[in-house]
Amino acid sequence: MNIQEIHQHLEKYGVNPSVQRVAIMQYMMEHCTHPTVDQIYNDLLPAMPTLSKATVYNTLKLLVEKKVVKSLFIDERNIRYDACSNLHAHFKCRYCSVIFDVPLEEADIPPFRGNPELSLDETQIYFLGVCKNCAVKR
Ligand SMILES: [Zn+2]
Ligand SMILES: [Zn+2]
Repeated sequence: MNIQEIHQHLEKYGVNPSVQRVAIMQYMMEHCTHPTVDQIYNDLLPAMPTLSKATVYNTLKLLVEKKVVKSLFIDERNIRYDACSNLHAHFKCRYCSVIFDVPLEEADIPPFRGNPELSLDETQIYFLGVCKNCAVKR
């Protein structure tokens, strides 16, 4: 998405697209690594010296409220943020805390399979395990 498209995307969700909000949203779309507030702040700061950590925190809070991004509670120390809106589960490595998306279809979840009365639009499904990098090291 270019800047113009991010503007429209935010407006569609009722978020006033300030320069800092657009920059944070752009970062979220380019980094599908489920970043924390600290990671986003540290990465954006060199290009935006006036940015404060409170602004990053408040922007993410607003984006979650407006359902533009999702907050994940997979990491007990930090809230992680996810801008991917498609249905998916998460896999977290217990050693390095990397978080991968795991594809998930409504049809994969038995209670929802072929049930016209329930329409699933969000999951907080987490799997814990060991990633390939850590498995090699051990
Ligand atoms: Zn790992
Ligand atoms: Zn995700």
